[in-house]
Amino acid sequence: MSPAALRRAAPTADAMDLLRGMLEEQFAAHTARLTQLTVHARLPRRGGPDPRTLDAQAATARRRIAETAHALRRMSDGSYGACAQCRRPIPLGRLRAMPCATHCTPCERRRSP
Ligand SMILES: [Zn+2]
Repeated sequence: MSPAALRRAAPTADAMDLLRGMLEEQFAAHTARLTQLTVHARLPRRGGPDPRTLDAQAATARRRIAETAHALRRMSDGSYGACAQCRRPIPLGRLRAMPCATHCTPCERRRSP
């Protein structure tokens, strides 16, 4: 697909604003979650999840922070919304459900058998 065709198929400015808002919200939520987990891990044992569970939850929060940061970076460099594999536009419905998506559905299926 030509760069001009990709631009035409790219999400509209309004859709981008909406997606950016969603990503910023998710970024803030995951960051707050990681802070909470980090603080909790430092507290003396008072019930709550065991250290292993806390570690796993913190790892998930860190991964989600990285994914949202990566998506926001793609928004600033203009590559957001294009599939990392086939370069075709990722449908808006998929982006709204998963604003961090880096692949279109067919490529994603091929990636995870
Ligand atoms: Zn693709």
